[in-house]
Amino acid sequence: MSRIAFIGLGNMGAPMALNLVKSGYKVLGFDLSSARSQQAHARGIPVARDPKSAIEGADIVITMLPTGKHVRMVWSGLCPLAEPGTLFMDCSTIDVESSRAIHEIAKEKGMLSLDAAVSGGSGGAQAATLVFTVGGDVPGFNKARPLFERMGKKTTLCGGPGAGQAAKLCNNMMLGIAMVGACEVFALSEKLGLTSKTMHEVLSTSSGQCWAATTYCPVPGPVPSSPANHGYKNGFSAKHMLKELKLAMEAASLTSSSTVLGTAAAQMYTLFENAGNSEVDFSGIIKMIRGAQNEADIPH
Ligand code: NAD
Repeated sequence: MSRIAFIGLGNMGAPMALNLVKSGYKVLGFDLSSARSQQAHARGIPVARDPKSAIEGADIVITMLPTGKHVRMVWSGLCPLAEPGTLFMDCSTIDVESSRAIHEIAKEKGMLSLDAAVSGGSGGAQAATLVFTVGGDVPGFNKARPLFERMGKKTTLCGGPGAGQAAKLCNNMMLGIAMVGACEVFALSEKLGLTSKTMHEVLSTSSGQCWAATTYCPVPGPVPSSPANHGYKNGFSAKHMLKELKLAMEAASLTSSSTVLGTAAAQMYTLFENAGNSEVDFSGIIKMIRGAQNEADIPH
């Protein structure tokens, strides 16, 4: 059975590592923050004193870090120290350019490599229901396949280096645009005197159908599980959506792609975040779109 080094034991990394421990893998984690390392240790994840010790004897190294800069730094430091043939797999959400660059770093040192971005948030990490979009070669993918099954519910090999990260950013750009669209439609329909129940029913059964409106409905009532019914808490935060949109816009700029709606959505989420809504669920942007309209006046 593989021996796994897990670098980055934050909100996502710790529960992912724990699921591997629970599945019987020998895992040795590391986090720069001693508080995070101690918390992980208390939850049952063995922790190394430094990254070099974490990768000793490991045949798989997983990184779950904040940005491309962090991932490049860690892979540059660890790839020269690992046994050739070790699989390096990055699950962070980072820019496509960095994602491609880390594959090059790994290749130069004779390592297998994957970018394996995740969707599903910390709830999905805990419940092992993450969705992985993966980029890299088939041998690396086959080696990681059992791990995906322990940490998630669905995995797609999207193509070569960086393809997993690219697919995740494109999907989330679609989601950001769709949510802004759904919020504009619900806000308009309220002003036209339609109830949210009626509008939801029409959207769910007509050509305007989309996940943001029908499954993650941004107004309270029609979908009891959506964050709109829970004060726009505990969902996918606006700051995470903005991070995804910014990375997608960076990729668009590098490839001279026209993304008029993606740019508009990024601007709207920037306004929303700057108004103090970083931690609010991203569907809460409907409040900004409505303006200062009183929630109590809205027909449900
Ligand atoms: P986090 O800030 O909770 O955890 C990141 C951890 O990395 C921190 O504990 C930090 O101390 C550690 N770290 C930073 N540099 C390090 C280094 N050089 N060596 C070792 N450890 C280092 O972030 P998170 O919420 O766990 O997210 C991690 C990644 O996953 C991000 O790229 C994020 O965008 C992505 N992501 C997050 C979510 C989510 O809902 N939180 C969902 C999907 C993807």
